[in-house]
Amino acid sequence: MSKIPHRIYLTEDQMPKQWYNLRADMKELPDPMINPGTGKPATEEDLYPVFCKELAHQEMDNETRYVDIPEEIQEFYKMYRPSPLIRAYNLEKALGTPAKIYYKFEGNNTSGSHKLNSAVAQAYYAKEQGLKSLTTETGAGQWGTALSEACSFFGIPLTVYMVKVSFNQKPFRKAIIETFDAKVIASPSNTTNSGRKILEVDPNSGGSLGCAISEAVETAVTTPECRYVLGSVLNQVLLHQSIIGLESKIAMESINEYPDIVIGCAGGGSNLGGLIAPFMQDKLTGKANPRIVAVEPASCPSLTRGKYAYDFCDTGKITPMAKMYTLGCEFMPSANHAGGLRYHGMSPILSKLFHDGYMEAVSVEQTKVFEAAVFFAKHETILPAPESAHAIRTAIDEALKCKETGEEKTILFGLTGTGYFDMTAYNAYLDGSMSDYVPTDADLQKGFDALPKIPGIQE
Ligand SMILES: *Cc1c(COP(=O)(O)O)cnc(C)c1O
Repeated sequence: MSKIPHRIYLTEDQMPKQWYNLRADMKELPDPMINPGTGKPATEEDLYPVFCKELAHQEMDNETRYVDIPEEIQEFYKMYRPSPLIRAYNLEKALGTPAKIYYKFEGNNTSGSHKLNSAVAQAYYAKEQGLKSLTTETGAGQWGTALSEACSFFGIPLTVYMVKVSFNQKPFRKAIIETFDAKVIASPSNTTNSGRKILEVDPNSGGSLGCAISEAVETAVTTPECRYVLGSVLNQVLLHQSIIGLESKIAMESINEYPDIVIGCAGGGSNLGGLIAPFMQDKLTGKANPRIVAVEPASCPSLTRGKYAYDFCDTGKITPMAKMYTLGCEFMPSANHAGGLRYHGMSPILSKLFHDGYMEAVSVEQTKVFEAAVFFAKHETILPAPESAHAIRTAIDEALKCKETGEEKTILFGLTGTGYFDMTAYNAYLDGSMSDYVPTDADLQKGFDALPKIPGIQE
């Protein structure tokens, strides 16, 4: 066979026209969301005040295996997709490994990450429903950027609650979001009850993702014709992100390849859930048995050290409760943590798959992550986002194991984005001031103690 090219692109015709819903093939489904008001499983209607109708439907739809991607979304995708599948020849050579390493690169669009895949879908359905505005939160800024691009395209006003520490650290993120006409508010703010409550206790609070979510949800439910959108964790987001895995699988098949190991970083689980979707389908249906590995930061270890329990998705405790691996919605990663992936919980779908033994999880310390990021950048010329570098770290570790055993494994990992807005973190790594912090069991226990009690379900 002739040499496999460095970049394997699909044609537009080969692009998937449907998303894949992993829940349709799961042997056991994730436990239902609980409405905190009633203590009973949430219904689709319960979600209507928060999410637009079609997305509430997708959130609850455990049966439909393939969901048609609306024409308008397919057209939007074509502005930046298919994304390339890249054979990391130079990385392999530098490592001296017999393993074949492939990565799916999602940083090839102006938002710089995979988040645009779901942002465009969520903005489109809101537009279809005739909504007048949307709210959301953003931590590091990638989701706010992606959603502002999508909302601007479909002409929907957007308010972004941005975690105050990043608001102050990343003025250029704010500038991009504003370029696309969205309004950025540093969270906690005095524009909502949840924000005011936090500021009363701690006027200097730097904020958190959970707190920004509370503010965005509160604004959505108290503003007419306004809804809230979230960039990760939710079932609907994993559905949209399945485009990553579907494209990867078609591209690999076109060169007669199939991964032995699929690796992705895990914050709320959206890129990982998307990347692994068709491979997990093969596993669930007995067609193949690839290893699937989630990589998380040692400072925010929800899968590897969290509890599988019902928890709120936000710090303000106003969202429905989901059964997931969680550190407790009051958990805040240590201030020196620079590498993203700081959400307290994990996608309920991935949590269930992990719980049932279909997936592995590892945690890595941030100096090791940045070491891998810099090594990768030098050999593959892409400066990775710190989040993505978690997957790189583990891909490199797996490739090095192959070097020891001589096994020629095929490794696929998700390169979710570029790191140009994370240069403060790169600087800290390069000047040696970056440190690792691993929470103690006592630190984690505080978060577990604050898990909600639900009569008859979780005492
Ligand atoms: C948001 C983000 C992540 C983590 O989010 P998931 O929902 O876990 O995928 C990973 N990489 C990049 C570049 C991101 O922007």
